[in-house]
Amino acid sequence: MDANTAADGLLERLAQGPVICAEGYLFEFERRGYLQSGAFVPEIVLENPQMVAGLHREFVHAGSDVVEAFTYYAHRAKMRIIGKEDLIEPLNREALSIAGTVARETGTLAAGNICNTNAFAPDAKARLEVARMFEEQIGWIVDAGMDFVIAETLLWGEEALMALEAIKRAELTAVVTLAIPRVPEVRDGWSSEDTCARLEQAGADVVGLNCFRGPRTMLPLLARIRERVSCPVAGLPVPFRTTEAEPTFVSLTDPGCDCVPDGRPFPTALEPLSCNRYEIAQFGRDAHELGVDYLGVCCGAAPHMIRSLAEALGRTTPASRYSPDMSRHAYLGTHDQLRKDNQEYVQEL
Ligand SMILES: [Zn+2]
Repeated sequence: MDANTAADGLLERLAQGPVICAEGYLFEFERRGYLQSGAFVPEIVLENPQMVAGLHREFVHAGSDVVEAFTYYAHRAKMRIIGKEDLIEPLNREALSIAGTVARETGTLAAGNICNTNAFAPDAKARLEVARMFEEQIGWIVDAGMDFVIAETLLWGEEALMALEAIKRAELTAVVTLAIPRVPEVRDGWSSEDTCARLEQAGADVVGLNCFRGPRTMLPLLARIRERVSCPVAGLPVPFRTTEAEPTFVSLTDPGCDCVPDGRPFPTALEPLSCNRYEIAQFGRDAHELGVDYLGVCCGAAPHMIRSLAEALGRTTPASRYSPDMSRHAYLGTHDQLRKDNQEYVQEL
């Protein structure tokens, strides 16, 4: 651990160096069989709260400085589509309580979370609906006494500004991150850097990008944002090998497989397209060099990636105790207790 103390808030910690925030809870619990792909609603918060607390702890053990309450897609539009609108309040309150407990017990920051509503459109009716959705979730976040709020995966600039307004009305610190599709702009038609500049001007404390894009196609946009704004910048890519031709994980294809439903690896067949831990470490170094100080990994993240990211930034985490050391490997190692014939036999493996 570094010189940070539990008493420091997000901005104090950012003033001292990078802050790591692990995201990607939806994908991880889907993979484990506790959350359904499609609607992607975090019912696990009520059904298996101990597992949510467990993954928070795994991410902190690996180096996350932030425990993000798992309220992603626990908003009214999503609860309605699975016919469980009546559970919205208990689910939000429970997720906030779990995150707060783990953050307090580990000396990390507790973050509330709001996200893309998929209900936004630039008309009065939609704006009103979205404003109400943000307002009710922010109310529960205020009650829970979270350290700051993350508004994430926002596809519309205007919706991002509305999320920010709701957070600022509650006088909380705001991290606002946009999800940028193939065209490097939000749905309003504003460039990612213009949108971030507007957010900064409207009072966002940290602005940047999360989700959709992998390290390779997110970094160039982060560079433009870093040049444009003065506040801390956030970069939380998905850990997949996106390319210029397929810049988002939704657009990725897998030439190595012809049995994926609809021929689209997103969201349940992305494994062969995953970045490895070394690519995540490289992203961390590159982004940090650009001046991006709030770093993490989104959908597809796993603890080993967070550990690599943390170590790339010069940290030693509790999980570093088990970071690879191949010197003691029976066949590939160099330790003097190892059998020489095994080391020679490695050529046959
Ligand atoms: Zn994501």
